[in-house]
Amino acid sequence: MKLDGKQLLPCPFCGGEAEIKKGVDSTQGREPIAWVECKKCGCCTKKEIEWENDCIGVVVSLWNTRKD
Ligand SMILES: [Zn+2]
Repeated sequence: MKLDGKQLLPCPFCGGEAEIKKGVDSTQGREPIAWVECKKCGCCTKKEIEWENDCIGVVVSLWNTRKD
């Protein structure tokens, strides 16, 4: 998956394909947010990145560097 030059790495846990999701944080109620989620096992980055112009780069970086 190519995203403006950003490469979304496979899931660090199961090796599955990851995808960028967007929606509304249920705990905040209204702020649109973005995150990366594994299609296979469902693990994901923190859902706290506001859906703005550069948020894709932010969530991709978060996903690619996560270790837990
Ligand atoms: Zn996974």
